[in-house]
Amino acid sequence: MPASSMDDLVALCKRRGFIYPSSAIYGGLKGFFDFGPMGVELKNNLKKAWWNHMVYQRDDVVGLDSSTIMNTEVFNYSGHLDTFSDPLVDCRQCKGRFRADHLEKPICPQCGSKELTDPRPFNLMMKTTLGPIEDPSAVAYLRPETAQGIFVNFKHVTDSMSVKLPFGIAQIGKAYRNEITPRNFIFRVREFEQMELEFFVKPGDDEQWHEYWVDQRIQWWHQQGLNPSRLVKFEQPKEELAHYSKATVDLLYEFPHGLEELEGVANRTDYDLGSHSKEQSELGLTANVKENIHSVSRLALKGDQNEWIVPYVIEPSAGVERGILAVLHEAYTEEDLGDGKNRVVLKLPFHLAPIKIAVLPLAKNNEEIVKLAQSIVSKLKQAPIGWVVLENTGSVGKSYRRHDEIGTPYCITVDFDTIGQEGNPLLKDTVTIRDRDSLEQTRLPIDQLVSFFMNKIYGA
Ligand code: ATP
Repeated sequence: MPASSMDDLVALCKRRGFIYPSSAIYGGLKGFFDFGPMGVELKNNLKKAWWNHMVYQRDDVVGLDSSTIMNTEVFNYSGHLDTFSDPLVDCRQCKGRFRADHLEKPICPQCGSKELTDPRPFNLMMKTTLGPIEDPSAVAYLRPETAQGIFVNFKHVTDSMSVKLPFGIAQIGKAYRNEITPRNFIFRVREFEQMELEFFVKPGDDEQWHEYWVDQRIQWWHQQGLNPSRLVKFEQPKEELAHYSKATVDLLYEFPHGLEELEGVANRTDYDLGSHSKEQSELGLTANVKENIHSVSRLALKGDQNEWIVPYVIEPSAGVERGILAVLHEAYTEEDLGDGKNRVVLKLPFHLAPIKIAVLPLAKNNEEIVKLAQSIVSKLKQAPIGWVVLENTGSVGKSYRRHDEIGTPYCITVDFDTIGQEGNPLLKDTVTIRDRDSLEQTRLPIDQLVSFFMNKIYGA
């Protein structure tokens, strides 16, 4: 069973160093969060898993890391300046502001008044100014999606890499949206990260590739530990499609607050490359224009028949924060251990767990035990296992509780038997390995530890 409530998750995240409210000592800032020592590891591990699956495991995808502030013309031609808005209503009584499409009834959710203004579009892009003079020409926007960085670098990438259709460009990075009502913890925030792939295909092949990417993405989320019964496909109705999309399939997940979008997989057609080409074709950057490509030249590519085409693009776009929330929700488990004892344990997949192994000396002031524990940590750190820590609190029970709650898959205890002081000579130079999920304890010689964990992680 996943976490029973969002409150449980919020409390665990704060207590155990995953996620803190931003600027907390000054009262916080709505829609912003900071990732603590455990959170940053979980986040990095999720991003690594995505990059591995989308880039390293394939032969047809390359990566990119583009700037988060871009020339205003990018958002003019992408359509974001005109259309990237949500409907906003004001309450005339309490002055609260809300997203009209999030209200179940035309009633203020804050004070109950029915005196709401008519909805008006509110652009979600965050504005800033560049340079010392704050005039309109200095206005710039923080990107609301990473995708535009990929489109405007399309020619750079195709000129500098040997890529052929179909191929993709992947990017993970920050995006900013001035959400009217940030809410539900890290589900809807104003600063977040996206993991986006723009996969370029021949027009006509787009629908088949769209289906392919929806399936790929569902499988990947299962590998991150999401229960298939809580992840569903939802085809967006035509009237709700974004301005660039021909078809979008949302992957909805049953978050603690309800079934909502975790990732969108959109068929963006040639909308973006086409729009940016309109502007840049005037620069005459390439002369190879065929009549049938409506003067779109810069971002066209040669297809099979040697004709110039503007590729269509399929875009799987996932939010890192929503991914973290889903993964945490899924992993959170409360277990009754009998005798009135219970525990909270995060059953994260091994590759996502922040700490992989914690080594615990049984007696924190016994020099021999502590030294041996340190040498075990050093040995394990040299193997490709991930983060291994020494935790010398002297209270093994307390350490187990902490490591259960942060999802550490294995704890190793170094005790008096290990140093040969407990009477059983057979146990000298052996340690106890405790499995987070089964609670099974195995006694193993120290010199077999590395191969034991390598087998666990990579198989025999
Ligand atoms: P929503 O309808 O929930 O506002 P969206 O359809 O506007 O989301 P997209 O533009 O498709 O979202 O963005 C792709 C992904 O980026 C989303 O599936 C989500 O995971 C993530 N995302 C978008 N907005 C936010 C946000 N405000 N906070 C956190 N993640 C977000």
